[in-house]
Amino acid sequence: MMAFRTLDDLGDVRGKVALVRVDLNVPMQDGRATDLTRIEAVAPTILELADAGAKVLLLAHFGRPKGERSSTLSLSLVQGAVEAVLGRETMYISELAGPIVQQSLGIMRPGDIGILENTRFWAGEEKNDPELAKAIAANGDFYVNDAFSAAHRAHASTEAIAHLLPAYAGRAMEKELKALDAALGNPEKPVAAVVGGAKVSTKLAVLEHLVGKVQHLIIGGGMANTFLAARGVDVGKSLCEHDLAKTAEAILDTADQAGCTVHLPYDVVVAKEFAANPPSLRTCNVHEVAADEMILDIGPQATEALADVLKTCRTLVWNGPLGAFETPPFDTATVALARTAAALTREGSLVSVAGGGDTVAALHHAGVAADFSYVSTAGGAFLEWMEGKELPGVAALTS
Ligand code: ADP
Ligand code: MG
Repeated sequence: MMAFRTLDDLGDVRGKVALVRVDLNVPMQDGRATDLTRIEAVAPTILELADAGAKVLLLAHFGRPKGERSSTLSLSLVQGAVEAVLGRETMYISELAGPIVQQSLGIMRPGDIGILENTRFWAGEEKNDPELAKAIAANGDFYVNDAFSAAHRAHASTEAIAHLLPAYAGRAMEKELKALDAALGNPEKPVAAVVGGAKVSTKLAVLEHLVGKVQHLIIGGGMANTFLAARGVDVGKSLCEHDLAKTAEAILDTADQAGCTVHLPYDVVVAKEFAANPPSLRTCNVHEVAADEMILDIGPQATEALADVLKTCRTLVWNGPLGAFETPPFDTATVALARTAAALTREGSLVSVAGGGDTVAALHHAGVAADFSYVSTAGGAFLEWMEGKELPGVAALTS
């Protein structure tokens, strides 16, 4: 386990100023936040610091203002949602650094919470500008990063600043890093990885990293078609990246050498048109797909075989649905395997970690998101971690 400091390593913080990087990048509709998950995730850290008597200054980005102020991307728009989740009043501060922030701190009492303006209004943020980081750090006594989802970017508020102040992982960051470490850093073996989704091209680096790490690589979704085609299977009209046949073969070879068993489906669910419950729906062996059919889910036999694989494993990491799960009945395999994983997790025989926008949606759809050991909502950062990359925001906390 990589060493990073947590809130447990903080001494007395009463009256001290905590600069806390959080993810407040919530989806908005008609001026209202439509999903509070990200705020809920960082609330424990904010409240813990406030209750310990720190003056808490929140640092966050919101949308893509590209280094300029934008009235529609001000964090003042998110203040109400933050207050609703925290159950506390906050102070919106229209700057990120400088005398206005200093004056606000003069008014704030221990335990008060301030929301600094959108870090991306300043061009130096995305450039990881040391001068901007210095200006922000000047108003704080210590730095806490609780935004794993922003940790794959080396920005002033995620990377540079962590070198200027004593830096700590917040509770959400700590939980995420521990879960990810249990899944791939230092997992109990055997480890199974499910990689699904639409295209091989978006997850090449993930596949290449995983074949050297896990004992079972389960490939589903549209990307399974590319692997099947590379092995000479006629996949008809299926979503398939034929130009990646060589790449797919190379991944299979690497897996072979590394002792990683790759599981491709041997039966599939096909249809002539992509629609809900289409009349042409049928299940067949992968070698029986007609020229005018497309593979939209893996079949029941394959799903059962995969469930048996999971039963022999101690750890599961999952990114990407096994089929076009938004359209019934092509959610069947994803839902079934997710439920198996959830049941094994509940029994205590499997540590299960999942991430990815559509994967998280699929697990909620299957009703099992809460049963997984950990579900990451970090998106890009989760994928980069699956690729085995070092995330700059995390590295800055550990050095
Ligand atoms: P995540 O967001 O979890 O990383 P992806 O974005 O890579 O996942 O992939 C999800 C998408 O893949 C879904 O929209 C799903 O419909 C699509 N998909 C899965 N299997 C197939 C398939 N056989 N044919 C076409 N699309 C598929
Ligand atoms: Mg997606």
